[in-house]
Amino acid sequence: MGIQGVYAAGDVTEGLFQVVFAAAEGARAGINACKYLRKTKKE
Ligand SMILES: Cc1cc2nc3c(=O)[nH]c(=O)nc-3n(C[C@H](O)[C@H](O)[C@H](O)COP(=O)(O)OP(=O)(O)OC[C@H]3O[C@@H](n4cnc5c(N)ncnc54)[C@H](O)[C@@H]3O)c2cc1C
Repeated sequence: MGIQGVYAAGDVTEGLFQVVFAAAEGARAGINACKYLRKTKKE
């Protein structure tokens, strides 16, 4: 559940408030944002 095309990571996501989780979520958010943009470009 979320807003299409909006990605977040780290403390703002109410995670575990640990650097390692913020970095992992940041990487995942970046990858998913790229996928979203590629898909949007094709449509
Ligand atoms: C005192 C303290 C000790 C901690 N100790 C540990 C620890 O030992 N180990 C651990 O794993 N975690 C620790 N943490 C938690 C860890 O710091 C955070 O989980 C982590 O930094 C989250 O990263 P983030 O990128 O989500 O947020 P942040 O690191 O807070 O980065 C957010 C950035 O956004 C910037 N920003 C805010 N508003 C705006 C705006 N409007 N425009 C532009 N920029 C903006 C801020 O200036 C900041 O640089 C500690 C936290 C605190 C407060």
